[in-house]
Amino acid sequence: MLKNNLGYPRMGSHRQLKKACEQYWAGKINRKDLQQAARKIKEENWQLQLNTGIDLVPCNDFSFYDQVLDMTLLLGAIPSRYTQVLTEVNSNEEMDLYFAMARGYQKDGLDITAMEMTKWFDTNYHYIVPEFTADQQFRIFSETLFSEFNHARQICGKAAKPVLLGPVSYLLAGKEKEADFEKIDLIKKLVPVYVEIIKRLKNYGAEWIQLDEPFLALDLGKKEKQAFEYAYGEIAKACKGVNILVATYFDGLLDNTQLAVNLPVEALHIDLVRAPEQLDEVLSLIPDNLILSLGVIDGRNVWKNDYMKSLLQINNAVSKLGEERIMISPSCSLLHTPFDLDQETQINPEIKNWMAFAKQKLEEVNALYQIFSGNTELLHLNQSAIQSRKKSPLIHKDLVKQRVAAITDADSTRKSAFPLRQQLQQQRFKLPLFPTTTIGSFPQTDEIRQLRARLKRGELTTDQYDAAIEKATIDAIRLQEEIGLDVLVHGEFERNDMVEYFGEQLDGYLFTKNGWVQSYGSRCVKPPVIFGDISRPKDMTVRWSHFAQQQTDRPMKGMLTGPITILQWSFVRDDQPRSVTANQIALAIRDEVVALENAGIGIIQIDEPAIREGLPLRRANWSAYLDWAIKAFRISASGVKDETQIHTHMCYSEFNDIIENIAAMDADVITIETSRSQMDLLNAFADFEYPNEIGPGVYDIHSPRVPTTYEMVNLLEKAAALLPAQNIWVNPDCGLKTRHWPETLSALKNMVDAAKQARENI
Ligand code: GLN
Ligand code: ZN
Repeated sequence: MLKNNLGYPRMGSHRQLKKACEQYWAGKINRKDLQQAARKIKEENWQLQLNTGIDLVPCNDFSFYDQVLDMTLLLGAIPSRYTQVLTEVNSNEEMDLYFAMARGYQKDGLDITAMEMTKWFDTNYHYIVPEFTADQQFRIFSETLFSEFNHARQICGKAAKPVLLGPVSYLLAGKEKEADFEKIDLIKKLVPVYVEIIKRLKNYGAEWIQLDEPFLALDLGKKEKQAFEYAYGEIAKACKGVNILVATYFDGLLDNTQLAVNLPVEALHIDLVRAPEQLDEVLSLIPDNLILSLGVIDGRNVWKNDYMKSLLQINNAVSKLGEERIMISPSCSLLHTPFDLDQETQINPEIKNWMAFAKQKLEEVNALYQIFSGNTELLHLNQSAIQSRKKSPLIHKDLVKQRVAAITDADSTRKSAFPLRQQLQQQRFKLPLFPTTTIGSFPQTDEIRQLRARLKRGELTTDQYDAAIEKATIDAIRLQEEIGLDVLVHGEFERNDMVEYFGEQLDGYLFTKNGWVQSYGSRCVKPPVIFGDISRPKDMTVRWSHFAQQQTDRPMKGMLTGPITILQWSFVRDDQPRSVTANQIALAIRDEVVALENAGIGIIQIDEPAIREGLPLRRANWSAYLDWAIKAFRISASGVKDETQIHTHMCYSEFNDIIENIAAMDADVITIETSRSQMDLLNAFADFEYPNEIGPGVYDIHSPRVPTTYEMVNLLEKAAALLPAQNIWVNPDCGLKTRHWPETLSALKNMVDAAKQARENI
């Protein structure tokens, strides 16, 4: 029974790679230094895995930016706009071409855009999207894979297992840049290059090669299924004498089980954390000789494995296949977990004893093997941690559980239907046609960030800090009044991050010091951890919203983050369904909404930018998710009177396939991002005859460019042609925290002018 690992975090224990890359980009270190930093991280990772008893140690899982971009370079799928960079850098300066593709290239009169980036399945990792043309060619372009493998061989010997994104998933992860061809048809051109790569790795001494095919766990069309059969058939024919492991993860094989188990390869990896139920089906269909890698340890979360549960799965598989045909493994690459729990010295030891980061998860692979071989002590130790978590009063709060259990339909329904609410709200606020507002945050300048840093370092007292934030808030309010906005915001100067700010004030949350996870390139995020039942010990935002409302006669919007976004951007509990955690958060936000209302705030925005990204990977699971997610939002929004106006906000507004659910949120006003699509994204709302009020963003906040009044009037005219004019609000696409003040003020002035013109013309 081999102990397998699919991939390891590449940033290094103290984010050394981030620092090295950023120094290289800034011209502070040279290429050799950067490569040296990478070498050290790799060697440390490999050594650690060997020391932990891992038998198949991944290599080529390292990347300076992204593993999909590495494949693009390896396969020579370089988009033509980089040919100039290509001729400029000579072949041993491949690194500059690579970073140009990742980040764009501005030098010596060249200005080339970066390749597009998108989310890696349902993780918060972003990959660089391959670009394909109809006459796309592939060839081995880069030697990096082979030199990394040789390096790994020196350290790990036979254990070194190169990891590549498999040919079908590589194509499916990419994008056609021309019409009239399908990317999947490129498989015939692509497979020969994979064959060549695999043969070379074999010649250098590789015994196992891992080909990641996460798309096998997604909905596939007929052509895509055929591509799998074709690709692996060809590889099997051409590459004898080396073992291929196909790795699937993030969901179950379901209708692709037959296809997956019958691929002519030596081993198949399945994710038994996301889809434990697939084990029995796989075991019943698996042909003789195929080895099964059991992904029993959660590669997507921070919790200790329940060895008893995993052992049952392992025993089940061993009894059918025998020990020699089983591998023990984390569910997916450990890239998505933080590096090392030992570095966390501030977490309550009782809670820490329930947790495991990447390094600890490697130890779990080994421990499971030991336990399987008869070590009962390790099992007992583990089970006492698991038991204490089941009962601990740190986690379990009866009052919270009772409240969630008692939720009724009335809790997720406003008192009256929208038409009556709209009337009452019009009488109350007397807003003009095309009312203007912003999404919440104003520029988070260095000064504002410094305030928080100084408070943390103890250089400012809380009073001094609060006074400075108050001043920033008052300034922002005066500016909004001068510009003539109708509904104001306080600016969110007191917030570091829209989830962390709430997490810090809710019970049931903890924060790590070093729990970084790669998001894209050198950028890492440190998601807060929900460990227990969530409750709200006291008001969270009332102090700031109330203060802001006192400074002005105009309506001041209260600003909250919604339950699904809080859930989605945190590490969540694995000891209860996500839906239950969502309801707990929803009740806490609901109480805050009511508290704001009681404090005289008449308009409250509950941001839900993450609703869409929470969609499950398989379509069959969408409706169950949408049911509880939309309900959680409604619970948070429905505690108020009809006269109180609830807004919600979402970025990435491609809502075609879930527009019904967006409408079911029943927010009085929804503000969305639409300017970059020239209002095209509004079509879904128009086709659906979206009944409530809506603010389609009229300017792109992602760039410092100041839009003209004329442009924005045009966009408003487009919007008014699609939806009733009396339902339309005027606002930017998203919050302004990443912008600077000068462009923000100019853009907002033009926006208010645009609204005035629209009132006259439309
Ligand atoms: N209210 C938040 C802000 O203005 C919304 C951010 C978001 O949608 N991501 O920054
Ligand atoms: Zn937004």
